[in-house]
Amino acid sequence: MRRLRHVKIVATLGPASNDYKMIRALSEAGADVFRLNMSHGEHEDIRKLHTIIRQVETDLGRPIAILADLQGPKLRVGKFANDSEELVSGAAFRLDLDSSDGDVTRACLPHPEIFAALKPGATLLVNDGKISLKVDECGTDFANCTVIFGGTISNRKGVNVPDVVLPVAALSDKDRKDLEFVCALGVDWLALSFVQRPEDVTEARDLAAGRAAILSKIEKPAAVDVFDDILAVSDGIMVARGDLGVELPVQAVPPIQKRLIRRCRAAAKPVIVATQMLESMIESPMPTRAEVSDIATAIYDGTDAIMLSAESAAGDYPIEAVTTMNNVAIEVEADPTWRKVMDASSSGVKTTTADAIVSAAREIAETTDVKAIVCFSESGTTALLTARERPQVPIIAMTSHKSTARRLVLNWGTHCVVTSEVDRFKTAVVNAARAACEGGFATRTDQIVVTAGIPFNQPGSTNILRVAPCDERLIFSADPE
Ligand code: ATP
Ligand code: MG
Ligand code: MG
Repeated sequence: MRRLRHVKIVATLGPASNDYKMIRALSEAGADVFRLNMSHGEHEDIRKLHTIIRQVETDLGRPIAILADLQGPKLRVGKFANDSEELVSGAAFRLDLDSSDGDVTRACLPHPEIFAALKPGATLLVNDGKISLKVDECGTDFANCTVIFGGTISNRKGVNVPDVVLPVAALSDKDRKDLEFVCALGVDWLALSFVQRPEDVTEARDLAAGRAAILSKIEKPAAVDVFDDILAVSDGIMVARGDLGVELPVQAVPPIQKRLIRRCRAAAKPVIVATQMLESMIESPMPTRAEVSDIATAIYDGTDAIMLSAESAAGDYPIEAVTTMNNVAIEVEADPTWRKVMDASSSGVKTTTADAIVSAAREIAETTDVKAIVCFSESGTTALLTARERPQVPIIAMTSHKSTARRLVLNWGTHCVVTSEVDRFKTAVVNAARAACEGGFATRTDQIVVTAGIPFNQPGSTNILRVAPCDERLIFSADPE
């Protein structure tokens, strides 16, 4: 089951997508990576989803990446007796420390530090800024507010206080427990929320101890300011537009999105554009034209992946949302302008043999009729470098490590295959040709490009490139040892 696009799709799982049938259907419709949001759901729910995803992976016969998103120091309201309430503009609404379920007049906000810092006149924004409340009166354990712009408030929605600086630690006790739980469970990527400094990333990296790759969510102005330092210590980035558009003026988000994507590509690290990509599809089977345009823009910007949040986690049309992303991606990537933009924006410092080999592979794919670039990559680095070239043909990453294959699923244009360990180049070429044919990328009469490092099993040593036939008999008769 090959994908007919380069950009990847991340789908968040939740109540609308928590059984085998739905998760399998999402995968078949185009979801490459599943996101488990640690802000919602208990450990047992997460464990159940993890088991189902791995079952789908086995049944569909190709790696799936699992991304666990740690809540971080996000302020959230508690639960509501009716799960949700309509707040009407002009009404009074109280926030307090009372842990009982909320109603239309009040809700719990279980963060004493916020009440300590609030002042009358401050604005509180709920649910990525959709609801706004003005503080009329406050004390150490409450804030009486007026609803300025109303809307639906529901269980555990996020709260931002843009006017007030709150002292926050990067990883809460809950985050540490969640991190250990998901690493022990076996996830491929860990997303860190509200990263502000490179130290926040290294702290999580030390705790993960190689068990998962680290993705930093950029949703704080401070993180934008020191982005290059954060990128240097991260394996990937998420442009988390929900909170970013609340913490900064919304109009600041598009230029930041473009800049961050460019930087990630230069560094050969995957980047996800997230939040509200198909927001209207939570309730409608048809996207707005503006949303389709937003997805297209992210793809023209060169992002590795696009993401669904509530659309797939809690919406009425999860499969339609994935299908929409898939269709938009196929259309954009068929546009000659998109190809020109990809070629023109190639960047990054290139100094190594591996850099030279991957750019040669891209040139060969441009000049001749090869069907895929197959790279043998134990650590995954060569596959990342190949994707930075944004070649015209699919990248097939061959690795003997399941964990590398799963992490690389997030990477632009990369089809991941777990292969047995090889020790001779000829065997590698045969395996590459088989993978290309079995994956539906090539037939026996086609040619592919194969890159590898000789001797095998020494990470970071890519030094050989071969344009090879897919016909095994030709490989054996034509190739030297
Ligand atoms: P974040 O800031 O981490 O993105 P979020 O609350 O915005 O947190 P998303 O995963 O982006 O969460 O959006 C999913 C939405 O779907 C949530 O806001 C929530 O209303 C709803 N939802 C309910 N249950 C779940 C669940 N188990 N997992 C994910 N989302 C859920
Ligand atoms: Mg969100
Ligand atoms: Mg967030």
